[in-house]
Amino acid sequence: MADLPRRVGWVGLGLMGYPMATNLLRKMEDAEFFVYDVVQNFIDRFVKDGNGRVHACASSKEVADKSDLVLSMVPEGSHVRSVYLTPDTGALASDLQSKILIDCSTIDTGTSLAVRDACAEKHPKARFYDAPVSGGVIGAEKGSLTFMLGCATNDAKVELLTKLLGLMGGNIFPCGGASLGLTAKLCNNYCSGLIAIATSEAMNIGMSSGMDPRVLANIFHTSTAQSSILDDWCPVPGLSPDAPASKGYKGGFRVQLMKKDFGLAVDTAKRVGAKLALGDEGLKVYEGASTDPNCKDLDSRVIYRYLGGKEDWRKDFPEEMPMKKEEKRRLLQEAKESGL
Ligand code: NAD
Repeated sequence: MADLPRRVGWVGLGLMGYPMATNLLRKMEDAEFFVYDVVQNFIDRFVKDGNGRVHACASSKEVADKSDLVLSMVPEGSHVRSVYLTPDTGALASDLQSKILIDCSTIDTGTSLAVRDACAEKHPKARFYDAPVSGGVIGAEKGSLTFMLGCATNDAKVELLTKLLGLMGGNIFPCGGASLGLTAKLCNNYCSGLIAIATSEAMNIGMSSGMDPRVLANIFHTSTAQSSILDDWCPVPGLSPDAPASKGYKGGFRVQLMKKDFGLAVDTAKRVGAKLALGDEGLKVYEGASTDPNCKDLDSRVIYRYLGGKEDWRKDFPEEMPMKKEEKRRLLQEAKESGL
């Protein structure tokens, strides 16, 4: 089994990066960490958590100079360019030798490939990988992220990457080649973004016609409109108890991030010539919700609100009603407990 690095570099200690790096810090007990973020407070907080094992750096280059391997988790393509390509302070300004660079940000494939090419040209022995994640902040905290890795299953580093990323996530998928991790991530978010719109619209049709949303959700659950968006992330408040929609759309995946990812998926489709019937329409919904003061900064399923969906439906249907999904979970639990 491949040996894990002893000196780990991390750039970008935001909502996702911080808990991801924290998992590595806890699980790699012998490793030293070298970290950088443009926000000094985030560096200071992580240094404090590290009890002497975390060292603050003044640039991505310094992180790369002092580490065996560098991970990055920053918002957009422009930030990834800055982390790696800034002439004197970017990671590629370091003498990388055969070091490994892993970018976990969700960005456009063009930027990722440009950084990879620049790395290959300047440092032929070094390797740059795209490794975006799904699972959100909760997955990052629990160490249960899914990683979509931009490499082939027989890549020389796949064993090491799987072992390292496995400390932060339960599922690691080599996606076939460079930038295909990002492609997978963007395809997933395009699909789940459209399912959220479709579920919102369909629930809205039924509810505006006078239906109890619980009856409709129970029918979807046992019919062909079933999805994990309907079951676990339902855009209609009060149907999935743990979903952000049931908590004022707080937590979850910010609508501006969905707009970014959805837009990147639409751009990718144009670049590769994949025909989209719903891309432009879907993007308009996420763009509109991202700037609407009633929706901005909330979970992306807030598009139900943006589309005019009814949120206070309970007063029309005050009686209790079991949800099929909850019933199924309860029956499964009972069967498990009784040893069936
Ligand atoms: P965030 O804005 O909370 O964190 C990004 C961090 O990067 C910030 O601390 C920022 O200061 C730092 N940063 C920006 N530019 C930098 C630079 N040039 N050098 C060093 N540090 C820099 O964002 P986030 O929510 O952690 O998301 C990061 C990435 O993960 C995004 O691409 C996002 O799409 C993706 N993602 C987010 C979620 C989520 O639920 N938040 C889920 C999956 C994937």
